[in-house]
Amino acid sequence: MTQKGRLVIISGPSGSGKSTVLQKLFQNSEVPLMLSVSATTRPPRPGEKEGRDYYFLSDEEFQSRRNAGEFLECKEVFGRGYWYGTLREAVSTGLNEGKWVILEIDVQGALAVLRDQPEAITIFVHPGSMAELEKRLRNRGTESEEAIQRRLNVAAEELSLRHHYTHEVINQEIKTTVQHLCQLLTQYHGETIPCSKN
Ligand code: 5GP
Repeated sequence: MTQKGRLVIISGPSGSGKSTVLQKLFQNSEVPLMLSVSATTRPPRPGEKEGRDYYFLSDEEFQSRRNAGEFLECKEVFGRGYWYGTLREAVSTGLNEGKWVILEIDVQGALAVLRDQPEAITIFVHPGSMAELEKRLRNRGTESEEAIQRRLNVAAEELSLRHHYTHEVINQEIKTTVQHLCQLLTQYHGETIPCSKN
């Protein structure tokens, strides 16, 4: 991949608040960010939109695009037959346009991308504690007890791998986390513009 932009990988357990943090980061950062929209075979949650949150694909379509080598990385997450993947073309187009392409992917996906793109900036969003994570997952009210338990198990595994990331932020207060990430990216970008809007 010829690159003018930079790849930024953001991971964190489901319920760590990383989606909200990312949404606000996009509103506040002075760096030209672009979110890579992943493809998945999981059904949309209430409020999720095709092409904005994910490309929701059938199993057949996902596997045929996988066989065609269209994914930079892809994997089955949560062991339930739901696949997630990063579309190669969207990422390289963004990088070639000078965008800082954000990948919001799980730890295994991040490690796979890092093997190919070791210069990627990696950030792990930590929920603070497992108890806090459980509270957030339950407050969402969108998932069964079984799904919550599965996500908690995956979260524990992800937390144990966070040392692979260059940066770790503990997301206790969204505003502070966003400011921290803005500053971090601005620093990498070599600018001194403060991140003041919140
Ligand atoms: P959710 O179902 O809550 O949207 O996402 C579940 C998990 O899948 C999250 O940890 C998220 O980071 C991960 N994920 C989302 N997109 C991708 C992707 O393209 N690749 C990989 N490896 N993981 C992804």
